[in-house]
This record gives sequence, C-alpha cells and structure tokens, in this order.
Amino acid sequence: MKIAVAGTGYVGLVTGVCLAEYGHSVTCVDIDENKISLMQSGISPIYEPGLQDLMKKNMAKLLFTSNYVEAYHNADVIFIGVGTPEKPDGSADLQYVYGVAEQIANSVKNDCVIVVKSTVPIGTNDKIQELIESNLKHDVKVSVASNPEFLSQGSAVKDTLHSSRIVIGVEDKSAGEILKQVYEEFNAPILVTNRKSAEMIKYASNDFLALKISFINEIANLCEIIGADIEDVAHGMGFDGRIGNKFLNAGIGYGGSCFPKDTKALHWLANFHDYELRTVKAAIDVNENQKLKLYKKSRRYFDSLKGLTVAVLGLTFKPGTDDLREAPTLVNIPLMIEDGAIVKAWDPVGIENFQKLYSDDITYSTSIEETLREADVCFIFTEWDEVKQVDLSIFNLVMKTPIVLDGRNCFNIHEVKKHKIVYDSIGRETVN
Ligand code: NAD
Repeated sequence: MKIAVAGTGYVGLVTGVCLAEYGHSVTCVDIDENKISLMQSGISPIYEPGLQDLMKKNMAKLLFTSNYVEAYHNADVIFIGVGTPEKPDGSADLQYVYGVAEQIANSVKNDCVIVVKSTVPIGTNDKIQELIESNLKHDVKVSVASNPEFLSQGSAVKDTLHSSRIVIGVEDKSAGEILKQVYEEFNAPILVTNRKSAEMIKYASNDFLALKISFINEIANLCEIIGADIEDVAHGMGFDGRIGNKFLNAGIGYGGSCFPKDTKALHWLANFHDYELRTVKAAIDVNENQKLKLYKKSRRYFDSLKGLTVAVLGLTFKPGTDDLREAPTLVNIPLMIEDGAIVKAWDPVGIENFQKLYSDDITYSTSIEETLREADVCFIFTEWDEVKQVDLSIFNLVMKTPIVLDGRNCFNIHEVKKHKIVYDSIGRETVN
C-alpha cells in the first residue's frame, strides 16, 4: 500500500515514522520547507523521546516532501495529521484540515481512503467527505475514515508503537478493512464504529482526563485550606479500580496542544446545539485559575517580585517535550517580568522555543545550580526528572533566600523537612 501523511507535527511525524517501523513505505508531506529539509537530512524537527533514532533507522522507507501532488496522486491511504487550533471563540479552526482536503481532491488519481487523525468536531469527517467528493478532478472513489489519535507528547513513540486502542470510524465497510490491514502489525485492540462516534470518543476521552485533573486540583486546593495531604488522598483514591490511580497528580493545571482546546471546542459545539456541558465548563474554569496558583502563592512571601531574582525550573507544559503550547509558564513569566523580576530559567529542551518568545527578558541556563544561584525565590513549573532528582541541599546552599514554590509536587514532604528551606507545594502542608 502507498501511504501518505499530511502534516509532520507531533502526530503526523510520529505516525509516519511508526508506520515505517511496522513495514510501510510512507511519504510525509508538510508545507513548512524548513521542516522538510531537516527531515530529508534525517533530523527530527521536534523533540520526542526515541523519535530521532526510529526515524534514522527507517529512512529508507520514508520520503519527505512539500510537493503534495507527488505524495497524494497515487496513494492508497492518506492520513491527515495537521493542526486544529483554537479560534478566539473556542471553536476548532479547521482551515488546515479543509486545506489538505482540497489538495487531496485536486491530486488523487486512484481510489483511496482518507484517514483523519486530527482532532475534529463531531460531523467534520462527513463534511470532509462532501468537500473532497465535490472537488475531485478525476473519477475515483474516496472514503473518509475517522481515526483519532490518542498519543501523549513525551511518550508519543511508545504510545503509537503500543497503542492502547485503535479507533476507526467509517461509513463504508471496505475503508475499515483497508485500515485494519494498515494497522495489522500494531497488535492493538481495534474498535470499528461510525465516523461521528469515533470523533466523539476522542473529545470525550480528552475532556474526561481534563476533568479528572481539574477535579484533583480542586480537591488539592481544599486540602491546603483544611490541612489534608493531597498525595495521601490521591493514593487512597487510586486503590479503587473504578477511579484508577493515574492522572491524580495535583498541580498547576493542564496545558499543551490538546486538553485546553479540546475542552473548549466540545463546550462550544454543545452550546452551538443549545446544550450546556457544565462539567466540561467547570474543568476549563478551574484550570484557568490553577495556572496562576504559584504566582498567587508568591504573594505570601513578597508584596511584589520587583527587583527580585526569580529562578524558574521547567518551561514546557510537561516533561518529555519541547512544546510550549498553553504551558503555565506562558501566563506566569510575563506577570513576573511585568512586576520587574529578574527571571532566570532552566529547561532541558524547551529553552530554544521559549527564546523565540522572550529573548532579552530572561537569562537562560542549562544548569539548575546556575539558575538557582543568588535567587530570592524558585518556581517549579515542570516535573522534569532532573528537578525531581535534585539534591535538596542545593536550594539552601546557592539561593539567596531558599523559598521554593513547587507547582508539580516534585519532592517528598518528609525529605524536604530535613532541609532548611521554605517549601510551598500544591495541596500539602507548607514546610518552613
Ligand atoms: P502540529 O502543529 O505539531 O503539526 C501540524 C503540522 O501540519 C505542521 O508541521 C504544519 O506545518 C503542517 N501543515 C499545515 N497545513 C498543511 C498542509 N496543507 N499540508 C501538509 N502539512 C500541513 O500539530 P500536532 O500537535 O501534531 O496535532 C495535529 C492534530 O492531532 C491536531 O488536531 C491535534 O489536536 C491532534 N492531536 C494532537 C496530539 C498531541 O499530543 N500533539 C495528540 C492527539 C491528537
């Protein structure tokens, strides 16, 4: 089978490389010429654990091009993995998906299956089918299938090679059979349903996870007020199989390219159909507040951050990725700068992307110790292993005043108590 993938972001490139790993020849298409030339020389334009090596290993089965006609004209299966960002009103911006659909309609000369991996509002796959059919330049049969992606950034390669499930939404049985063949080697449970249900599975899954995070964060906030410990509370809850022990880590809220936009898009869609999704709205509202939790906590120690040296550990929205989309740092660091703080930041892979946004206002370092040196306060925004494994004595040794505000509960409270630091985390007692 000839396979093409439109979009070489976190989803498209990982999909292309993993399909190649399982034996397919894949042509990856992007409109970004810089990305294409990097990939042609065997370099991944994004950071994702294991991706670079797997890409190098499979270069003989991978082609990278910006010439979509060349990629689509004789393809049997075309995956769409382009972005569906949030519009100002919260709805999903489908211009990139529809753009690819038009390019496909202009190019295909063979019958083919179009597989929509991008997260799109319920009903979009039907519209893509209509759009392509009404713009086809040749007399061919095209079938659109929904195949939502469930990978997590930071473990995208592992998640794809060992998928928890493969959801296929089709209106045409033969398209489902072709996709089953594509995924034969993946050895994952396959659920075949209709297109709208597949689209809904994706939104319902992400929104449920967002809700779980916002729920545990609210419980953490209450724990702080009444003196309970969120780590013990979450641990105790997790024994119940109906709840599960994953995604119960309290913190400063979810970020990234999916939960924030997918909650807003489903809420918008429900409103459009005169239905208020109140649970999802609550998850969104709680998260907006939670993102500012550490900044608000700093007011307990300082009236203002003016003239203070602030050490920031972690810039990305989660560990294992260089992605900054909707990261809590994007709302907190501008506030610190506005206050007049001197900001020093550390991150193992996110500095390059952050520098594109804030080049002069921040001093960047790849050394945690250097970042902490002479700092008046430290904010932890991302639970990188390097942070979790830091020798706790360092805060007292190198900071001017060892005040640590931890938005990701990186350290064991009992361990922290052995050191002379002020330690304020989420949903737990403050150590001082
Ligand atoms: P991304 O922004 O990282 O990548 C999108 C890529 O598409 C970019 O490289 C862009 O240049 C390219 N592109 C735009 N128009 C194009 C065109 N006409 N032809 C070819 N390429 C084109 O996006 P992403 O994070 O990979 O997300 C893609 C989709 O997958 C979104 O709908 C997202 O919601 C969904 N998704 C993302 C994740 C995730 O963790 N990132 C997980 C599951 C689902």
